[in-house]
Order: sequence, then C-alpha cells, then structure tokens
Amino acid sequence: MTATATRVLVLNSGSSSLKYQLIDMADGERLASGLVERIGEGEVADHGDALKIVGEELALGGFGLDDPKLAAIGHRAVHGGIRFTEPTLIDDEVVAEMEKLVPLAPLHNPANITGIKVARELRPDLPQVAVFDTAFHATIPEAAARYAIDTETADKLSVRRYGFHGTSHAYVSRATAELLGKAPEDVNVIVLHLGNGASASAVAGGRCVDTSMGLTPLEGLVMGTRSGDLDPAVIFHLARVGGMSVDEIDTLLNKKSGLVGLCGDNDMREITRRIGEGDEAARLAFDVYVHRLRKYIGAYYAVLGKVDALAFTAGVGENAAAVREAAVAGLEELGIAVDRDRNAVRGPDARLVSAEYSRVAVAVVPTDEELEIATQTYALVGAADSET
Ligand code: AMP
Repeated sequence: MTATATRVLVLNSGSSSLKYQLIDMADGERLASGLVERIGEGEVADHGDALKIVGEELALGGFGLDDPKLAAIGHRAVHGGIRFTEPTLIDDEVVAEMEKLVPLAPLHNPANITGIKVARELRPDLPQVAVFDTAFHATIPEAAARYAIDTETADKLSVRRYGFHGTSHAYVSRATAELLGKAPEDVNVIVLHLGNGASASAVAGGRCVDTSMGLTPLEGLVMGTRSGDLDPAVIFHLARVGGMSVDEIDTLLNKKSGLVGLCGDNDMREITRRIGEGDEAARLAFDVYVHRLRKYIGAYYAVLGKVDALAFTAGVGENAAAVREAAVAGLEELGIAVDRDRNAVRGPDARLVSAEYSRVAVAVVPTDEELEIATQTYALVGAADSET
C-alpha cells in the first residue's frame, strides 16, 4: 500500500534546547509541537537524547520519527554565509560547508549542525532540508550589503551584511501582501520583526533590498538585550579606557545592553507597566527603542521610494500597541497613520490597524517561522510516495 507523505517535522536546535513542530502540509494542520530544554544539564545528555525524547513525544500522539507520512525534516539554520541562499537539501558536503561557517555564528551554527547530525543518524533515509535565517536577504544589493571598509580585508574575512530573521521577514512580507489582496510582486513592505531579537527589512516586490541586522544579529534596532547600532569606536573606548576584553565587550553588547541595559528589564510588558508607575529608566528605554525604530522606518521609506505597508510582527510587534503607536506617531505627512481603536484590538490573526485615510497600510501580522520552514522544505522535496 502506498501513502502520500505530506508531513514535515520542523526542528530548531539551540545550544541547550530543541524545539519541534510536526505540520501536515496537505492542510497546514499542526499535529504536534514541543520543546526539550536543558540539554547537556543532566537527564538530557545531548542533542541525540533530546531527539529521542522528541520521537517519544511524537509517538504518544501516534506519529513518531518513523511515521510513514513524514516527507522530510526541515531544520532551522542560522547563518548561511554567501554559500547558502536557498533552502538546501542536506548531504555530507552541506554539513561540511556549514561547519566552515561556524566562525560567522559561533553561538548558533554549532547547535544547528548538531541537530542536523543526530536527525540524519536517526533517519538517514529521509530528505532533510536546511532553511537559513540569512537566505531571504541574499537579494540585498551590494550597495546595502557592503560595509565601507577595506575590500580586501572584508572579502578575506567574509565581512559584509547578511541579515537574519529572514524566514520571518519572508513569511510576513508575503502574508502582508495577502492581507492587502495583492501579489507579493506588487507591493513594497517594511517589515518590523520586534521580538527579543529585533530587525527591520525593506522588501520590494517580494525581494528583500535592505535589512537592519548585519554580519551578526547585533546590528540595527534596539533589542531585548542587544545594543543594535552604535559607533564602532565605542568598542575601542571600552577596551582602551575601560580595560575590557573582546569577550567582555561581546557579552556587554549582546547580553547586557538594549532594553535590559537601559532599564534592567527586557520584557516590553514589564517596561510599559513600569512606565505607568512613573519609572524614568523604563521611560527612557522605551523612548530609545522607539526612536531607533522610527529612524529605520524613515530610512527604509527612502530606500523603497514607495511603501504600501508597514508590518509589525513577533512578540513586541504583535502585542505592544503602545510601541506601534509611538513608532509612527506624527508620520501623517508620509501617509502613515494608525487608528487608535483598531490598534488597541488584540487577536491572533493578521489585521490592519491603520486609519481609513492612511495611504500606507499599517498591519499586525503574526509571524510563523515553523510554517515557513515547513513550506520551504516541502516545496523542495515535494510530496514523496512512501510504502506503508
Ligand atoms: P519573541 O522573541 O517574538 O518571542 O518576543 C518576545 C518578547 O515579546 C518579550 O520579551 C516581550 O518583550 C514581548 N511581548 C510578549 N508579549 C507581549 C505583550 N503582551 N505586550 C508587550 N510585549 C510583549
């Protein structure tokens, strides 16, 4: 008997966690999802153990890693460098190339690779696909991707802007076009992915033309714990005058900066609550966050020339009405206006929050990176026939 394999298992391997979702691409149904945490801290010795637990959890729901309807495994991969600009069918050569990219993403790529290796050991017969966070940004023109530094040095060390959150920017820009009832080719969208990590992108006719993250996810917007943009000479100053080591500065800018650096909290819920109590540090953190966001909206407006929509997504973008309102306040001359009542409504679906007269649509579009990874994976491997 032959059954059509339409299910995709999406794996997102972090250094100490493994997130998974099983999605049936025939109807988009989420069949199972979960998270294995604290890998390497006791009961779960390594990613191999974690994947076995995923297999057991899936089996409880009647699926399992040996599910004959499984068409493929789609892996989230963070840094694809200039080598990987498309979802990629994984083989030994691809794993070896990913290993070469570890210096570009030392915090993320090793965990991705480990996840891929254990999944290939358990299901060597199954197509497995890597979907890179950088891939959607591969269309950014050189003028936007290059840093203005010595070309020889830049090329030798692969120093250029790659961008991240690409899976989310791809999904949200397409979903925004859909919300407007248009084809992605026919709209220009500024996507504001505001989660604990945050990035903006300018998407022209479905192709990314600029994005705020760079060589690493540190550049650009103010984030939960990352500084985003700063004068590079701040780093020299911290080293020369502050006596800090490169590792200490790395930790400061990635883990102790952004909202948490400014006010001690990285959760926008807590920050807005504190503002309500008159807390000045929280107010300043909010203002710095919003100011940077407005700068990027203005910058990408100029990059695109014509903007059809702004799309807010991820934890802060989807939930923090105050951030959305403040980010576009006073931009009526640019054709951007939010409707207060619409903006205050919460909900799980993509929706417009712009005023009737706003020339630019302002949208809240919940992101779905897992579905995007599954969609790209399934598109690559297609529906596979399998024996049952
Ligand atoms: P993400 O990385 O997309 O999961 O976003 C996580 C962040 O979203 C949290 O750190 C919060 O700052 C923010 N967030 C989540 N829910 C809310 C909410 N209801 N209101 C404001 N911010 C929220």
